[in-house]
Amino acid sequence: MASIFTRIVNGEIPCNKIAETATCFAFLDINPLATGHVLVIPKREVDYIFDLEDHELAELMSFTKVIAAALKATVPCKRIGMTVIGLEVPHTHIHLIPINQVDDMNFGKPKLKFTAEELELIAIKIRSNLK
Ligand code: AMP
Repeated sequence: MASIFTRIVNGEIPCNKIAETATCFAFLDINPLATGHVLVIPKREVDYIFDLEDHELAELMSFTKVIAAALKATVPCKRIGMTVIGLEVPHTHIHLIPINQVDDMNFGKPKLKFTAEELELIAIKIRSNLK
């Protein structure tokens, strides 16, 4: 069965899309740790990031860099933190999170709540800063 992220890529499940290439896709995390929490994924469904082919990993990183720049230009922060956990959804995903202190990357913290309209507004702003 296709992962929830494959179903997002295929348009079967809605998301707040940021951008895509032939091989990668970026969208807002539905349960964000911070404003602008983005997930970046390879379109090919591979559970564990280090099982990606070298060229796939390189493409994913290059795409992630572009998304992180747009995110940094959108959300005031010291930098964009990047982490991979993947214990919940078995489809490689990189978390990009605007951070000011180390605790901003604490996944044990309560998640933020945004309305659908607020999430879409954040996505629009990030998209407008894509280079
Ligand atoms: P993990 O696998 O532990 O890295 O966590 C999976 C992440 O995917 C969590 O931060 C979820 O909030 C996020 N997530 C799960 N389903 C969706 C969805 N339909 N749209 C956006 N983000 C999602």
